[in-house]
Amino acid sequence: MEDGTPIPVDSVGWHFDNTFTSLPDVLYTAALPAPVRHPQLVILNAPLAASLGLQLHTQPPETLAALFAGQVLPPGANPVAWAYAGHQYGHFTMLGDGRAILLGEQRTPSGQLFDIQLKGAGPTRFSRRGDGRAALGPMLREYLISEAMAGLGIPTTRSLAVVTTGEPVYRDTILPGAILTRVAASHIRVGTFQYLAARGDTDQLRALADYTIRRHDPDVLTAEHPYRAFFQAVADRQAALVARWQLVGFVHGVMNTDNTAISGETIDYGPCAFMNRYDPATVFSSIDSIGRYAYGNQPAIIHWNLARFAESLLPLLDPDPERAVAIAVEMLNNFPATFERYWLQGMRQKLGLQTEESDDAALVQSLLDVMEQTGADYTNTFFHLSQEPERPDNPFRDARFPDWHARWQARLAHEGTTPEAARAAMRQVNPVVIPRNHQVEAVLAAAETGDLAPLQALLAVLQSPFVWTAHHAAYQSPPDHEQGYRTFCGT
Ligand code: AMP
Ligand code: MG
Repeated sequence: MEDGTPIPVDSVGWHFDNTFTSLPDVLYTAALPAPVRHPQLVILNAPLAASLGLQLHTQPPETLAALFAGQVLPPGANPVAWAYAGHQYGHFTMLGDGRAILLGEQRTPSGQLFDIQLKGAGPTRFSRRGDGRAALGPMLREYLISEAMAGLGIPTTRSLAVVTTGEPVYRDTILPGAILTRVAASHIRVGTFQYLAARGDTDQLRALADYTIRRHDPDVLTAEHPYRAFFQAVADRQAALVARWQLVGFVHGVMNTDNTAISGETIDYGPCAFMNRYDPATVFSSIDSIGRYAYGNQPAIIHWNLARFAESLLPLLDPDPERAVAIAVEMLNNFPATFERYWLQGMRQKLGLQTEESDDAALVQSLLDVMEQTGADYTNTFFHLSQEPERPDNPFRDARFPDWHARWQARLAHEGTTPEAARAAMRQVNPVVIPRNHQVEAVLAAAETGDLAPLQALLAVLQSPFVWTAHHAAYQSPPDHEQGYRTFCGT
């Protein structure tokens, strides 16, 4: 607010605890949110606010707008932009928060710590040629998709609010400026470690590792080799995370190492989108011409990103450089099997299998092959398999994929699971709805004209994606055709 009138936000439940200030100060730099003309609240995540211990409903909309536009800082806020590096499309660069400002860390009533960050709050020391701003459509898109991921039970940063700034942002066209409040277990990335490794200061690197271990992996402190155990914990979380993405058909789209969070949360919703037809080559990002970050490449890319993480940690893995490399290589070589275990376990659940048999991977692969050959919708195939086959609207009534279907039924019979029990279990894990690209575009277009109702309706079903109601059914259909659907980075 231009006149700087203080407002009683502390009665709201803020409890900032800026533990990051114990880190080497090369990692962050002070950054104040830019003044904006006319902040207005567009959407607020009331359940998330409550879980953070914030009583935001007691505040008038103007107060919330000023708060989430960074015009009035919560008590204890210590706004900074973080430095980091990263491999972007395979090329190493020094980076930093160019359009995001960390306000501080909120301590929740249950004692958990979450970063509160404003995305699009104006330029920082790291903005380079960027304006530090964000537009309404992409911020609402992040809100919608991150909340959909949370609804699916997939680790993710969350979205607390979106405000418009009352100011234009200049892209290909003039767009309404907006700010997203992002909530994250932390914003420490593989690229944060790369930044200190590139500077070559092992003491600073160790300080970051020690801090991150205390924040995310305190269990490894008692391990014989805590830094090796730390790497393994991070690799394990990423294996689990990317397996979850594969299981729901999520394409992140920009898996640069600066967009890989040590916490194991999905972060940085730019060109991401969900796949409709099953096709491992699915790419949505307008600038990913070679398909580096295609759906089917995601497991290999996270393995590559973890190799960059291991490289950064080398001086901590062993004092002898050769031994450190040998240890890193051995840990990295374990990754594909770890990923495969999470993925196959998830696929068994998607097919209602309770036990493990040696040819399960082949059974799953033959389903994926027949889906690819026939252009089947990924989400709806599993949905229909989980429904009564006699239903008139079930394509499996007419012996769809007959050879595969018979094999699957025989596999269930072999372990003694009845088809009914299998279907009931499958309905717990196979989503009825995902954020379909054409619906996401439609609700964002309505929101940009001021009509939030379609977005709220889509959000409501995405927050409970495993139940099937008439309401959900309206969101199940893939588009008639989706040739050339394109998504964009850094918008
Ligand atoms: P992303 O692809 O969204 O992960 O962004 C890559 C880098 O570009 C990050 O360091 C961002 O902070 C920066 N960036 C993206 N958009 C802008 C912008 N409008 N102004 C300044 N920096 C930006
Ligand atoms: Mg990023």
